[in-house]
Amino acid sequence: DLTDFRRNQLQNIAKAPVVPRKAPKPPVDEKDLINLIVVGHVDAGKSTLMGHLLHDLEVIDTRTMDKFKHEAARSGKASFAYAWVLDETEEERERGVTMDIGRTSFETTNRRIVLLDAPGHKDFISNMITGTSQADAAILVVNATTGEFETGFENGGQTKEHALLLRSLGVTQLVVAVNKLDTVDWSFDRYEEIRNTLSVFLTRQAGFSKPKFVPVSGFTGENLVKRIDLSWYDGPSLLELIDSFVASQPPSDGPLRIGISDVLKVSSNQLVVSGKVESGEIEKDDKVYIMPSVTAATVKECANSNNSKLCFAGDYILLTLQGTFEPESIQTGSVIVRSGPDTLLPARKFEVRLVVFEITTPIIKGTKTELYAHSLCVPCSFVKLLYTINKSNGEVLKQRPRFLAKGTSAVVEIETDHDIAIEAFTTCRALGRVTFRSAGNTIGAGIVEKVILPE
Ligand code: GDP
Repeated sequence: DLTDFRRNQLQNIAKAPVVPRKAPKPPVDEKDLINLIVVGHVDAGKSTLMGHLLHDLEVIDTRTMDKFKHEAARSGKASFAYAWVLDETEEERERGVTMDIGRTSFETTNRRIVLLDAPGHKDFISNMITGTSQADAAILVVNATTGEFETGFENGGQTKEHALLLRSLGVTQLVVAVNKLDTVDWSFDRYEEIRNTLSVFLTRQAGFSKPKFVPVSGFTGENLVKRIDLSWYDGPSLLELIDSFVASQPPSDGPLRIGISDVLKVSSNQLVVSGKVESGEIEKDDKVYIMPSVTAATVKECANSNNSKLCFAGDYILLTLQGTFEPESIQTGSVIVRSGPDTLLPARKFEVRLVVFEITTPIIKGTKTELYAHSLCVPCSFVKLLYTINKSNGEVLKQRPRFLAKGTSAVVEIETDHDIAIEAFTTCRALGRVTFRSAGNTIGAGIVEKVILPE
């Protein structure tokens, strides 16, 4: 019986002894690494803010900046000069040119910061969905200009959606940059109004426990790096707040997890794939398994973008594997793991804690949708609505709800048609973040709490 065979096979993989690693530990970074994401309604000033910050930190030299200013002025978009610092990165990315690391990472006194998606991206939501991001912390940019904060915050604005998405994907550290305060003469009343409105939403509805607020102008540059001299504010600058973000557990210490993002070549005995090392480390001659197909393989070659042969969490790698392959069983969304107690056991049922987005038809038992996690996209259905939760304190509100309306936070059981490789968020953040989409809209997002293995 095939299922018995597979169950035995998986049990044996999980029971295999841990192979001691011969690889040396990755060079320890003296500074903790923070993956930072910048979110907010369109035109809130995300690109300008980050571009100006990078300029002030001298990540962007004055000559390059002058070039941007000049080009921006020439095309009649002088006010976008700082935004171009980041937007060009995005263009380069689209053209497939090697990314200029300088523009997307920087150092603070105690931290090394990697900017996840360049904030210029229009389709932020689907970017998070592809799961490439592993945000440890976030900056939410809001526009203090009269009427503009309200546009971003009310129905149709992205402020709430982005905040909810972050929180439902497990990001807990949040700084709100109250931006464009230069347009309201640095009005304390305006700052307080925005801070109060957002505090209520972020703590009571989105479930952030201690969001921090900072008054800034991304355009004129006040309070980005140097503290501002204001009668009503003597707190930290944006940079100081970024410096106080806490890193999550170093993923290089975790179990090996490589999400396959592309299958470049597959024959009966050789496989070439590209993917991201989400956790752990890998090198030539390593014995691995590809899940969910449970395909054994040996690493023949592996290299990251610096051509290093020893690859660690965070690296995008190219991998050549040897083994016996059935071409259709290795796909985008497959995951490379090791045997042993830290292995990943594929399954088709999962308990997910999710937040329901703006939807017109409530989710009911049996609702079918698409599940997105790392580079995976598969059909799934909500098979059990277990209970709804109070977002601010995590208490159970109602057992076995009949439906989930927009804005609800709940724990559900989902089922996919076939086994897939995702797992609990606590084991691997990148493989434990899931999003549900239906007809091109995000209907919910959350984290995997439990993998339900077949009996
Ligand atoms: P994004 O869509 O959130 O990335 O916003 P951009 O950074 O592209 O900025 C949108 C517009 O707002 C541009 O014209 C910027 O010059 C302007 N802007 C951004 N930050 C500020 C600010 O602090 N003050 C003022 N006055 N304008 C700003």
